Amino acid sequence: MQYHIWTIGCQMNVADSQRVAAGLERLGYTPAERAEDADMIILNTCVVRQQPEDKAVGRLNQLRRVKERHPERILALMGCMVGVKETMALQKRFPWVDAFLPPSDPTELWALLAERGHLDEAQTLIADAEARRLALGRTDTILPPSEQEHIVSAHLPIVLGCSHACTYCVIPYRRGAERSRPPETILAEARQVAAQGVKEITLLGQIVDRYGYDLPEFAQATETPLVTLLRQVHEIEGLERLRFLTSHPNWMKDDLLRAVADLPKVCEHIEAPIQSGDDEVLRQMRRGYTVDDYRRLVARLRETIPGVSIATDIIVGFPGETEAQFQHTYALLAELKLDKAHIARYSARPLTVATRTLNDDLSRAEKERRRKALDDLQANILEELNARYLGQTIEVLVEGYNTRQKRWFGRSRTDRLVFFPAEGDWRGRLAQVKITWTGPWSLIGEVKF
Ligand code: SAH
Repeated sequence: MQYHIWTIGCQMNVADSQRVAAGLERLGYTPAERAEDADMIILNTCVVRQQPEDKAVGRLNQLRRVKERHPERILALMGCMVGVKETMALQKRFPWVDAFLPPSDPTELWALLAERGHLDEAQTLIADAEARRLALGRTDTILPPSEQEHIVSAHLPIVLGCSHACTYCVIPYRRGAERSRPPETILAEARQVAAQGVKEITLLGQIVDRYGYDLPEFAQATETPLVTLLRQVHEIEGLERLRFLTSHPNWMKDDLLRAVADLPKVCEHIEAPIQSGDDEVLRQMRRGYTVDDYRRLVARLRETIPGVSIATDIIVGFPGETEAQFQHTYALLAELKLDKAHIARYSARPLTVATRTLNDDLSRAEKERRRKALDDLQANILEELNARYLGQTIEVLVEGYNTRQKRWFGRSRTDRLVFFPAEGDWRGRLAQVKITWTGPWSLIGEVKF
């Protein structure tokens, strides 16, 4: 029996797909390169913008023919396209899909396998146990055995869902209300992946800094719960690096910043989206901070965490965004010189406040012009920032080998992509690399022995 999982979207989806793969491998499935060859096909979807949603619909339509030829094969749709209560409408629209699985919850898949008689008695017991563990928010298998040897860096969801309700964002409608996972579950998972050879863990949440405020364990806590968790994960032997994302500017307390500075394994890299450089647009987005608040955050980060690298997200073409408002974002990005900026064209999403109350009035061409202007600006900033690495020796956690470039690649602590040629097996090792070439998107160097 073979399975194929197609994944699109955020790190949370990557983590969810790995767990499903691990569960399927426990049941005896092996991975298939192509969906067309698999007995079980899963599409793990993203709907944060129209584009990834269109891609998933395209895949579903292609797979319709596969299902017609091979009705016994199982096709499951998972992730934010399914959401927490979209199943009825989707069943009508895509009747050739066998199962609809909400984000982070493939329980129904195990039930379907048992029901269809695809499992023997022992496997059914495993599937039942898997489903129960998932219902409790825990699982004993995170990385699929077929991938364990290759995975250097793992993502662990620590906060599921989101309750912030930014006016443009569909995530709360699809991933449900914010809820933190128990610390003992997270620690057990972190120990497990470390024992399997994982060197880097990234803790995930839509607003990861809000971890634990909803858990009784932290009701009396005096420090930020995420700091407590970071300290505990930090103790785990074998782990070399620790990261967390995504941060919200309003929730980054001083003790969290100090923990990043003080805990050696925690990388000095922060992902804190600003979304817009204009106060009125930020207000309409209901982000809950002003441009000056964000400026002060950047200053605090740079003061507290030596060498910190800061990544941000920006949306251009929010309903009603004027040229002057866009220019405020442009000027702010030029001023702050951040280490990464992910820039997206606004995309109206069903049910969101922005879609219900505002007119998506900018043309695609105008949004694209604004996106490209910011992208070009950011490329220039990165060229300048990265040039500072020239001649420096930096620590790289090696993730794999690029056969086309004939070079090993990995990331610096500040999340720079670094390539270097070398004999031998470097995967999973920390390499000291002297940088000899820099560009906006990557660095190249020589490894030091
Ligand atoms: N909770 C995280 C991740 C949200 S989704 C955060 O606060 O950043 C990742 C990014 O997608 C967001 O930061 C935002 O920049 C972008 N995004 C979300 N909804 C969008 C929409 N409707 N149109 C365009 N981009 C969007």
